[in-house]
Amino acid sequence: MTLDPGPLYNAHMQRSGFVAIAGQPNVGKSTLLNGLLNKKLAIVSRKPETTRDNIRGILTQEDCQIVLTDTPGIHRVHNLLGKIMLTRAQSALLEADIILMVTEKRLALNTEDMNIISRFPEPGKNTATILIINKVDRIKQKGLLLPLIKKAEKIYPFDEIIPMSALNDGHIKKLLSIIKSYLPEKKFEYPIDQLTDKSDEFMISELIREKILERTHEEIPHSSAVIINEISENKKTGLLSIKAAVVVERTSQKAIIIGKNGTVIKTIGKMARSDIENTLSRKVQLELWVTVQEKWKKDPEAMREMGYTD
Ligand code: GDP
Ligand code: MG
Repeated sequence: MTLDPGPLYNAHMQRSGFVAIAGQPNVGKSTLLNGLLNKKLAIVSRKPETTRDNIRGILTQEDCQIVLTDTPGIHRVHNLLGKIMLTRAQSALLEADIILMVTEKRLALNTEDMNIISRFPEPGKNTATILIINKVDRIKQKGLLLPLIKKAEKIYPFDEIIPMSALNDGHIKKLLSIIKSYLPEKKFEYPIDQLTDKSDEFMISELIREKILERTHEEIPHSSAVIINEISENKKTGLLSIKAAVVVERTSQKAIIIGKNGTVIKTIGKMARSDIENTLSRKVQLELWVTVQEKWKKDPEAMREMGYTD
């Protein structure tokens, strides 16, 4: 005798899938991810190469689960860090059920865009591809978009071409329903209450790194990394105590990050602490110090220590 699961089971067919967000630096990938998740997860900044790691954000609703990956930029590779980023971005594209390719009108689907599109799986390989022309709020005449849409249609057989603004809630809602329509029927991959595949430790270091990006200029953001040395909890007060090191490549950079009388590092610490408290919903004490480690970007050992692995 077989047990008939009944109509209830069939009525609740689950849809789920991996969605990779690809595109050149600064086009609004992280903004899009955060908009879809309705939460500050990836760090957003005007400086390129902000996102060094694939961050998976998980959006679960009644009948569907969308696992979003914000891929670090696929662009010219200069060093070991760049190589690791490229490998990660590429694997995200290959495992995706849906690819969101983000661009903006200003770029006019240039060779860098073409380079990314050339890494897509072959058309017809069960991967849905959606081209997003972002930042349309910056375009005065919408008619100017038509030539770009025509060009896109010739370049690759995208399933959808969507002009939108990642900052517009209405546009995000529409995009979400389009994504849902392309989700395969598949069981949920993650528990329904899980929001990200990253640890608190990773989120904390990214929030600190974001403040460094905001408070410093020129080569500093790209020469620095954050290592969390200790996270401990005071059981009585519930206070979380975090000790973290900011690693830079040169002594001169150390001086800049510390600032006159320590003002810069103090501000970075204050701002980061407030964001960490928000993200973790608890009181936090944050201790930062700055250390020099020459050429950490070329040193596999140092990179591993910082959590960058192939
Ligand atoms: P990423 O490097 O592709 O992840 O880009 P980010 O998400 O970090 O965004 C880069 C910059 O573009 C930020 O200053 C965003 O606020 C801005 N941005 C993103 N989407 C839009 C949009 O739709 N309109 C406008 N005007 N700015 C946007
Ligand atoms: Mg980003």
